[in-house]
Amino acid sequence: MTGWGLALPFSNCAWVAIRPCNQPKANAVTEPLVKDYTTIPRKRPEGDRVNIVGLTRDELRAALIEIGTPEKQAKMRTGQIWQWVYQWGRRDFAEMTNLAKAYRAQLAEHFTIELPEVVTHQVSDDGTRKYLVRIAGGHEVEVVYIPETDRGTLCISSQVGCTLTCTFCHTGTQKLVRNLTAGEIIGQVMVARDDLGEWPVPGEPKDETRLLSNIVLMGMGEPLYNFDEVRNAMKIAMDPEGISLSRRRITLSTSGVVPGIAKTAEEIGCQLAISFHATTDEVRDVLVPINKKWNIKTLLDSLREYPRISNSERITFEYVMLKGVNDSNADAHRLIEHLKGIPSKVNLIPFNPWPGSPYERSDWSRIKKFADIIYKAGYASPIRTPRGEDIMAACGQLKSATERERKSRRQIADETGISVN
Ligand code: SAH
Ligand code: SF4
Repeated sequence: MTGWGLALPFSNCAWVAIRPCNQPKANAVTEPLVKDYTTIPRKRPEGDRVNIVGLTRDELRAALIEIGTPEKQAKMRTGQIWQWVYQWGRRDFAEMTNLAKAYRAQLAEHFTIELPEVVTHQVSDDGTRKYLVRIAGGHEVEVVYIPETDRGTLCISSQVGCTLTCTFCHTGTQKLVRNLTAGEIIGQVMVARDDLGEWPVPGEPKDETRLLSNIVLMGMGEPLYNFDEVRNAMKIAMDPEGISLSRRRITLSTSGVVPGIAKTAEEIGCQLAISFHATTDEVRDVLVPINKKWNIKTLLDSLREYPRISNSERITFEYVMLKGVNDSNADAHRLIEHLKGIPSKVNLIPFNPWPGSPYERSDWSRIKKFADIIYKAGYASPIRTPRGEDIMAACGQLKSATERERKSRRQIADETGISVN
């Protein structure tokens, strides 16, 4: 989605299905299908150039040695190239003027610096920007930038589709197409920085007020089922010699993949958001079916240590407001009980309906009452407000909106013979 930007700490995005939501899901399972849907290999066939974007520092160093860079120089060369690519946003080896000309030519022979291709770009009246980007294999994902007074948040995806089947989420109706590579994940950030014109110029002081100041992994997919690529991409985002975003400005949202939570604390250390959405196992089993594998108690137990290990402040509990399903006063009180002992805040997300969705959004007065109960118990409980509605950047609707648009363009073309771009 995205559309429900704003509220306090960040906005949320839940990307959507490519195919109609009422089609049966082919791989409706709660297990990752890593074996069947591996990421695209970074190393290409002999003779093909390797894309540098998304390689870890170690991988880049090894690749430089492989093309003949003396081992003693490889660390320094890695640092120089890293800085050009991630600090200054350069895409041409010829511009890397602190490297010898012959070495630059050698690099260009073996490597590329490629980002996902931007297919469309829309700007909402409220400043929200939506990019449709194309990745290898012709798949498309949408990236949403939400400007606020004190920050600018980019909502990015980690998978095309999702193996999980949360019943209120449009992405949940789409089977997993594939995991994104680290390059495709960090590439979404770089594409947005390109568009915002936010790469500093070498030699000039860094501007600390950033247009793109926060990243949320709340687009399409379950980030903890693509852990390694997500971790590598976020390490690139946090690297002080590159994009240099603080781990406090990166939020990873998970439906509750318990084994991945401690790993996130240890290996990424970013902020954590949990798609909680229900206060009893009975209801959560339906809304977030991964609950059948790791129930509320198991999930909450795994969260208690998170702030200490990751040295982060609070965990965000995301709670989608569904009329008559999870929005009663009793739910609010049960939620407070669950939060006890966990430094937390609650983000209330008014449900964003999609065609064929089986739920309705709770009434505004109900959402306010619910927020009030949580707030009075001492927890921040902001309600997300919609952003970018005029460009259909709303939560859970992104992809379908684009697909709808495309369909209606095709329809006009079929009926009139005039193609509309
Ligand atoms: N898979 C991860 C991250 C992507 S979903 C997760 O589930 O946390 C990002 C957020 O959008 C989640 O909190 C999800 O529950 C929420 N969301 C999905 N569809 C929605 C909808 N139709 N209306 C409101 N929020 C939705
Ligand atoms: Fe949607 Fe659930 Fe997948 Fe998150 S885990 S993207 S909410 S289906």
